[in-house]
Amino acid sequence: MIHERGNISVNTADIFPIIKKWLYSDKDIFLRELVSNASDAISKMKRLVSLGEADDASEGQYEIHVVLDKKNKTIQVIDNGIGMTAEEVKKYINQVAFSGAQEFLEKYKEQNEANQIIGHFGLGFYSAFMVSDKVEIDTLSWQDGAEAVKWASDGGTTYEMSASNHDTRGTVVTLHIAEDSKEFLDKYELRKILDKYCAFLPVEIYLKDLEEEEKAAAEASKKDKKDGKEEEEQPKPINDTHPLWLKRPSECTDEEYKQFYTKVFMDFQEPLFWIHLNVDYPFNLKGILYFPKLRNELESMEGQIKLYNNQVFVADNIKEVIPEFLLLLKGVIDCPDLPLNVSRSFLQNDGSVRKISDHISKKVADKLHSLFKTERENYDKYWDDINPFIKFGCMRDDKFYNRVKDILIYKSTNGEYTLLKDYLNRNSDKHKDQVFYISDEKQQAQYIRLFKENDLEALYLDSIIDNHFINFLEMKETGTRFLSVDSDIAEALKEKSDSDKEDKNLQKALESLFRQSLGKKDLNIKVEALKTTEVPAIILLSEQSRRMQEMARHFGNYSMGSFSVEQTLVLNKKNNLIVKLREMKGREDRKQDIDMICRHVYDLAMLNHKPLEPEEMAEFVKRSNQLLSRLVELGN
Ligand code: ADP
Repeated sequence: MIHERGNISVNTADIFPIIKKWLYSDKDIFLRELVSNASDAISKMKRLVSLGEADDASEGQYEIHVVLDKKNKTIQVIDNGIGMTAEEVKKYINQVAFSGAQEFLEKYKEQNEANQIIGHFGLGFYSAFMVSDKVEIDTLSWQDGAEAVKWASDGGTTYEMSASNHDTRGTVVTLHIAEDSKEFLDKYELRKILDKYCAFLPVEIYLKDLEEEEKAAAEASKKDKKDGKEEEEQPKPINDTHPLWLKRPSECTDEEYKQFYTKVFMDFQEPLFWIHLNVDYPFNLKGILYFPKLRNELESMEGQIKLYNNQVFVADNIKEVIPEFLLLLKGVIDCPDLPLNVSRSFLQNDGSVRKISDHISKKVADKLHSLFKTERENYDKYWDDINPFIKFGCMRDDKFYNRVKDILIYKSTNGEYTLLKDYLNRNSDKHKDQVFYISDEKQQAQYIRLFKENDLEALYLDSIIDNHFINFLEMKETGTRFLSVDSDIAEALKEKSDSDKEDKNLQKALESLFRQSLGKKDLNIKVEALKTTEVPAIILLSEQSRRMQEMARHFGNYSMGSFSVEQTLVLNKKNNLIVKLREMKGREDRKQDIDMICRHVYDLAMLNHKPLEPEEMAEFVKRSNQLLSRLVELGN
């Protein structure tokens, strides 16, 4: 062919520095782009062969080779796909490939906030120039009588075309790596990028380091001379060309699902269960979503959903495609209908994306329903791990809430997992439309005991998300009130009171007694007849304070200095100590004793509620000793 020089049809000469600058952070995508072009070229070849339009000279041996040559500072991507004729190079490379770059530039001009449009903006073939001083293509088309073509450009706006001596069908792209991209002249770096983007590409990929091979060959020939025998090692492709998600769910074993999970997510804990997505209509989507086992609560907030496009990795955790709450899961989703280079603004405005997202959310709800129905025991068992995710989903996505609201369960103090509806029915005699919950099992241990002793039932709502979820439920389940076991709940623990007048006097007497001893103007003091006789007093918080305190706890701030807390000291008039105190009131000779007892009763109630501050604790210990001495004194 005649030597040809030309101008690439990009108007602006300074496009390259701009692209180079803005794409800097995502430089490694050049390899993804070139390898997926190679894979596309092979798919096209396969199709032509299957249609009978082309002969299969490669006998089904389709391969991509990535060859690193450190000495010459080049990386080559070699395929035996359809190749290109000179006309096609002009059309596809000079015009099409560069038009992507042009489009990029136009967008860049429109928006001053360039960083928003970078990231996932596709530049296809042009991305090769992010790391190269010069790029060459040697290609031979599959067509009969085609001549090999060489194309070369330094990334500016000019190119050169000439005859090539490439003599096998397919394309070789040679990158002459620029000084500032030297890090890519490293086998492990290339391997890392290929593992990230190309681990499941449909065509076998081989990575070769010429320097390493030369060394190995030299070693081998030395050894051969010694041993006189030759050993051929079969190179292995670096990728899995048939990822599990492409198989039919009925053909996959549990073992395969688990192995795949470990391999892809490097998570050596077994997943709880998984959902194999397989949709042909109205869009194409395949994938596997795993429900991971949580090691601790915080970790639950970090999942990983890998998005693929025809087996080429696009990105992790694209919330425009995958409902945000599902990002707490781990999984792979392959969606050929999405462009390989997703720009987020495109996705946000794309109707099919919303359908995909909705479909996934529906499939997850379906799976949960089927577990609930057919494997209730497992469902209960998984609940502790999966509930944060489900609750998050409910709060984020109303549709999802409506789909799963009938299978939300709660761990009860009776040791079982129960539906809210069943809990309310069971307890409607004792406390209608009220749900008692435990937000902190340790701290509320005394209250839980009181509940159990009084044959009352409470639900555990003690994960980070529950604080918000309770508010959410109250909004949804109108008429139902959620009360913490240590909040204003005395009703359920109280006996019906009898004579009003007597109560009022008692209240007055005890209140003044405790007020005098304790000071504490902000403290509410109330006298009640608790069903238990054992406990002299308990501390109750207003439900609102309770929720604020929970929030502070989850943000790691136990000290409650920042907001005032409404506390009530409930004195149990059925407890003997309280009865005796009332009788002692006014006895001048026992004034000091009364004072000590009041404070001690208060401290004990507090201790059951939260740890004492250091000074309070010191005071408590000191008083305990005094009380013991007093006991001995009185006994003499
Ligand atoms: P895209 O792949 O998104 O179409 P690219 O800029 O990567 O854009 O490539 C432009 C075109 O060049 C491709 O559509 C294809 O027709 C052609 N092409 C690129 N690489 C190869 C290759 N290795 N073999 C054959 N054709 C190729």
